[in-house]
Amino acid sequence: MGDRSRSLDRPPSAVREAVGRSTTTAALTFVGTATTILELGSFTLLTDPNFLHRGQRAYLGKGLWSRRLTDPAIDIEDVPPLDAIVLSHLHGDHFDRVARRGLSRDAPVLTTPAAAQRLRSWGFETAPMSDWEQVELGDARESLVITAVPGIHARGVMRTLLPPVMGSVIEHRVGGVLRHRLYVSGDTLTGRHVDEVHRRFPAIDTGVVHLGGTRVLFHTVTMDAEQGVDFIGRVQPRQVIPVHHADYGVFRSPVTDFVVAAGRAGHRDVHVVKPGERVDLEPRSAQSGTGPA
Ligand SMILES: [Zn+2]
Repeated sequence: MGDRSRSLDRPPSAVREAVGRSTTTAALTFVGTATTILELGSFTLLTDPNFLHRGQRAYLGKGLWSRRLTDPAIDIEDVPPLDAIVLSHLHGDHFDRVARRGLSRDAPVLTTPAAAQRLRSWGFETAPMSDWEQVELGDARESLVITAVPGIHARGVMRTLLPPVMGSVIEHRVGGVLRHRLYVSGDTLTGRHVDEVHRRFPAIDTGVVHLGGTRVLFHTVTMDAEQGVDFIGRVQPRQVIPVHHADYGVFRSPVTDFVVAAGRAGHRDVHVVKPGERVDLEPRSAQSGTGPA
């Protein structure tokens, strides 16, 4: 890593010591929308915390709201102790008023500079990240490196109406050996910016892909089924977990369309995870290389 990386000098979370979790753990619990709990070795991350309940409205900026159609699978009080929160951008379906009120201020929020500025004013510790910047947690024995990667929420005039977005590549290493590489797309459209992520991070183990084909002001601002298939064609993750597809009225592209289209394109490793379900992520295989790539 170059000078664009920094280390957050933090003690291990209490839960790690308490449960003595194995360094081989790699699991994802789906909470709803793009909210997941990621367990990688002894680290625990939370992504895009959205804890509004069914019927409550999320603010999408510029006077736009959307009503939530689902309940989160767990409530904010039941979130385990966290090492960090990774946030793609500041929209109400990714960071809501329940999160603002209820999340512990102990874990830093890794997010875009724009979102970080706002979160700091709400009392959160933040690590503002521009594209390709990295944050490292842990030490030489066991580490997580999170890299911010580009996201494009919309093109043309819509781009100016929406906040900047980042994706993230999360790498878990034990004793310097890469154990798992996970790419969370964030709310992005597909396109050439994704090719650069693939070039810098070949052999992605798990792609967590924000879908939904979100329509705002007659524009599509997250990937629909067709875009999602193009995205996984560019990234070539070994396994794909779709998120952000069933929770709001503005999500227009059902995940079943994506599963069918992905199957047609020859992508078999799509796992639709139900809210509340915890899935073990397939271990990094020998073929994808276990060296410190
Ligand atoms: Zn969204």
